[in-house]
Amino acid sequence: MRILVIEDERKVASFIKRGLEEERYIVETAPDGASGLDLALNNVFDAIVLDVMLPKLDGYSVLRSIRAEGLAVPVIMLTARGTTEDRVQGLDLGADDYLAKPFHFEELAARLRSILRRSTSEKTTKLQCGDLTLDLVTHYAFRDDKEIELTTKEYALLEYMMRNKDRILSRSMIMQHVWKHDFDPESNIIDVYIKRVRQKIERPGQSQLIHSIRGVGYRMRESGPAEPPSDDE
Ligand code: CA
Repeated sequence: MRILVIEDERKVASFIKRGLEEERYIVETAPDGASGLDLALNNVFDAIVLDVMLPKLDGYSVLRSIRAEGLAVPVIMLTARGTTEDRVQGLDLGADDYLAKPFHFEELAARLRSILRRSTSEKTTKLQCGDLTLDLVTHYAFRDDKEIELTTKEYALLEYMMRNKDRILSRSMIMQHVWKHDFDPESNIIDVYIKRVRQKIERPGQSQLIHSIRGVGYRMRESGPAEPPSDDE
C-alpha cells in the first residue's frame, strides 16, 4: 500500500512517515501543496494524508483538484483547526476522514486502515485477461508472475479495457471514461497510451491482448486461433 503524506512541518511529516513505514506502508512525502498535487496526479497512491495549512497551495485546493481529475483515492485531512466549519468544508470537497492536530499516531493509523478497508471491500480486487492480472488494490499488473508498474493514466486505461474485455471500445468511449473530457478527434493521445501499455504488458514472446480495430478503436481479448487479422504492426 502506497501512502502520500502532504505536510509542510518537517517534524510532523517525518513522524508520520516513520510510523507508517513501521506498519509496512510505502510512504512518499511532499512539503507543499503544489508538489503534493503533482505527485498525487502522476502516481498511484492508495491513500493521501493531507494537511490543510500548506504553502503554495492549501489542502482544500489540493483536494478539489484531485477530485476534479476524477481520482477517487481516499484522503484524510489534518488540521490544527478543529472547527465544525473546517471539517464540513473538507468533507464536502470529498475528504474521507478528518483528524485534528495534535493527534496520536495510533489514531491516524487506525483511521487509515479503516478508509483503506472501505475503499477496497466495495469491489472485486482483481481483473483477468488471459494470463494478465490487474490488481485493483495495489494497481500493479502481473504477467508470467512478473510485476508491471503502471502510471496513473496507464492504469486507468488498462482497468477500463479489462472491465470491458471482449468489447470493441471506440476512441471516444475511451476518452470519456479515462480522460473524462470531450473528445478531440485530432488528438492521438489514446494511441500513444495504448502503445505504452502494450509495450509493458506484451513483452516479446507474449501473446497479444490489446487489438486494434481499424477505423474504430481497440478491443482487449485473449488471443485465440480464430482471431481475424488486425492492422497491428
Ligand atoms: Ca501545515
